[in-house]
Amino acid sequence: MNSVVWLRNDFRLDDQPAISAAAAGPALFVYIHDESAAGRPLGGASRWWLDKSLRAFGERLHGVGGRLDVVAGDAAQVLPALAHGADFVAFTRAYSAAERATERRVVEGLKAMGVATRSFNGQLLREPWELERDGAAIPKVFTPFWRRLREAGPFDAPTPAPHRLHAAAWPTHAPSRVEIDALGLHPRKPDWSAGLAEMWTPGEAGAKARLRRFLDEALADYADRRDIPAGATTSQLSPHLRFGEISARRVFAAAESAGERGAPRRDVEKFQAELGWREFSYSLLYRQPELASKNWSPRFDAFPWRRDDDGLEAWRRGRTGYPIVDAGMRQLWTTGFLHNRVRMIVASFLTKHLGVDWREGESWFWDTLCDADEANNPASWQWVAGSGADAAPYFRVFNPVLQSEKFDPDGAYIRRFAPELAKLDARAIHAPWRAPDLSLISAGVRLGANYPRPVVDLDEGRNRALSAFAQIGGEADQRIPHPRKTMKNSG
Ligand code: FAD
Repeated sequence: MNSVVWLRNDFRLDDQPAISAAAAGPALFVYIHDESAAGRPLGGASRWWLDKSLRAFGERLHGVGGRLDVVAGDAAQVLPALAHGADFVAFTRAYSAAERATERRVVEGLKAMGVATRSFNGQLLREPWELERDGAAIPKVFTPFWRRLREAGPFDAPTPAPHRLHAAAWPTHAPSRVEIDALGLHPRKPDWSAGLAEMWTPGEAGAKARLRRFLDEALADYADRRDIPAGATTSQLSPHLRFGEISARRVFAAAESAGERGAPRRDVEKFQAELGWREFSYSLLYRQPELASKNWSPRFDAFPWRRDDDGLEAWRRGRTGYPIVDAGMRQLWTTGFLHNRVRMIVASFLTKHLGVDWREGESWFWDTLCDADEANNPASWQWVAGSGADAAPYFRVFNPVLQSEKFDPDGAYIRRFAPELAKLDARAIHAPWRAPDLSLISAGVRLGANYPRPVVDLDEGRNRALSAFAQIGGEADQRIPHPRKTMKNSG
């Protein structure tokens, strides 16, 4: 055996530098399952995805002569036990504090046995620390961050998948392997995954198909249509990127090529900048390992969050009485995905109108999103809540009704995920409590019976949020417009 490839969130052959490095000779391709290695147990939707992703990747490896071996345990113990006699162990780098700590222990253990390690950037367009060069700090605001990232030179070109791999024999004294089934990742009792299975094809082939479809059908209008939640207006690549079934470099380069073939430059650049937001989140995680638990802005440590168990539960279940919020939370529950605009609306609703701590929302997303990501999820929650780097100003409280009217004007998205409202006309569907009785009756909507009344009054929630924000003071106080003056344009 020449090498061992340690696999984590990089289940692909295309543009997978650790696998390419091992392609020349016999190698072991090992996934080591250790729930604590990422520092936080995987959420339910991620576990479902991982189960399918491992199976798809096993077949993919098998197709070119490799073999996926699965072991349960601590990588720092398993890898040295596997690597006796190997020339090197290869892996792509991860970014959470816990994963980096595991990496350090692995590298030290292997070094002590005289086995080299080779690590690669497999996940990002550029490593966060590359921007720290020449003593310059990484920008904390997105626009200069993205400019700096682009100006640092072209990103490495993606490398093609190896045509042939050579599976090494499993070493005699190595820890025993387990079947994917034994990891117990697929939900049982109850199995809630039917909606996820309907929407997704985890694995490299599924990722490539989604990229192709996006380039063919949605890229050309992306800049204008990406905020519309009904239909596939965005790439829906996020879970594939999260599990490394496709690389950010490949996606970026594919958009660039589509531009060269005629896709409008504006759309290509807007889409590439979204990949830039992902890089930005990772740079924040790199600088603040406790991004999911600590406010980026310490001023928010004193924020008077409310405890509202009923409101939180209504939000989780999609029973707030605000159709766009409810449709979103049900899309999340049934499909493991949520459109970005609606993520912002539901996050704003929870943290502003209900006044509930962003960490509650982040945890729920962590459990229910297939793309639940250690960097993007907390960074985005903090962005919405106002506690993050380059955050939306706290006083920017999304009005869910205005947002709904603007981005789901005919109610197509609401009709799909909140079917009890489907027969309401486009004027009534965004705020049924304001609809005439006759409209409600003819659409079969009985408020308080088959659809809830609003759990909070919008003006009351908004004004309470602004007063809470005033309590933590600081310079932003002067930036808070008087609540009554902004009520009509808070969307
Ligand atoms: P596209 O519009 O097609 O964008 C392409 C890719 O760019 C995405 O797949 C994603 O990797 C990246 N991207 C797009 N928007 C953002 C963004 N705002 N921030 C960072 N990266 C972005 N994204 C996650 O991947 N995981 C999360 O756990 C996550 N949690 C979020 C929580 C909240 C409260 C909010 C407001 C946003 C969150 N996002 C998260 C960011 C964004 O909503 C998703 O990345 C996006 O909706 C995925 O859909 P898409 O692949 O169709 O995106």
